Amino acid sequence: MSAWAGLYFFAGDFGGTCVLPGGNARIVREMVDRLEAKTPGRLMTGKMVARIRPAAGGWRVTTVDRRGKAAVLASKTIVVASPKHVVAKMVEGLADDQLRAMSAIHRRAYLVANVLLKRPILRDLYGGYTLGGDDYGDLGVAEWPSRKPTKRSVLTLYRPFCDDISRPQLLVDGFFGAFQSHARDYMLRTFGRQGLKGEDIADVRLARWGHSMIYPSPGQLSDGVYEVAGRPLKGLWFACQDSFGAPCLEAALGAAFQSAAAAKKHLG
Ligand SMILES: Cc1cc2nc3c(=O)[nH]c(=O)nc-3n(C[C@H](O)[C@H](O)[C@H](O)COP(=O)(O)OP(=O)(O)OC[C@H]3O[C@@H](n4cnc5c(N)ncnc54)[C@H](O)[C@@H]3O)c2cc1C
Repeated sequence: MSAWAGLYFFAGDFGGTCVLPGGNARIVREMVDRLEAKTPGRLMTGKMVARIRPAAGGWRVTTVDRRGKAAVLASKTIVVASPKHVVAKMVEGLADDQLRAMSAIHRRAYLVANVLLKRPILRDLYGGYTLGGDDYGDLGVAEWPSRKPTKRSVLTLYRPFCDDISRPQLLVDGFFGAFQSHARDYMLRTFGRQGLKGEDIADVRLARWGHSMIYPSPGQLSDGVYEVAGRPLKGLWFACQDSFGAPCLEAALGAAFQSAAAAKKHLG
């Protein structure tokens, strides 16, 4: 793994900790609410972008909605915030070196297990990291940000898939139950001494993230891989964490602010 990425996270962990009620999804919710309040109806969601191609005066964007209905939109300026492995297939007119840089960015999958407990077992704790060699990298106590005593509890377990070959397991139906049992057994093994029993666990719910984490390799920052991958085209900018190369919100926001400022300038 890249030393720069390692240092980045090591240093980050000595800063403050921010835990949001509703998790990180709360950031998106707040953004949507504020944009809606400012310009109602302007935000379109639930559409997949299938194609972005250069056209006279700007770009043409082909979208497909949930029912499979396609639409074409014209735009003078675009900020594309999708991950680069999607961008490589979506945007027409990318140079060979940019396509090569995009394909050099590796990603890893993540499994998130929300363990629903009939009673709290960890109080006054937002969560924490596990010891090296553990299958789960860290865990969180979902109700912690409310700072109120609760009758029940949700413990979130984060399981990284660190190798190249495990991702397809996430899509195999037969593995779903095995992942649930794995999380359940882990909880009983880890918190048995705190008195946790099988009957305390109401359910284990899973969220599967296939390509969520960039896995920065040594030399990619100094070789300019992320710079080339995120190089703008005429009137088109790339946001997304993989323009900066670190799998975290700061990288995503940094790329977004930079792209938005450049796009605004382009529009005049
Ligand atoms: C389990 C987990 C826990 C995490 N915890 C933390 C944390 O505590 N702190 C932290 O800093 N970071 C955390 N991260 C990392 C953080 O979530 C990412 O860094 C951040 O979400 C990256 O944002 P992004 O906008 O760059 O990319 P993404 O969040 O991946 O957004 C890309 C978007 O593009 C959309 N998209 C893709 N293809 C298309 C298409 N064809 N058409 C339309 N839309 C498309 C996707 O649906 C997605 O919404 C965590 C990640 C995971 C998976």
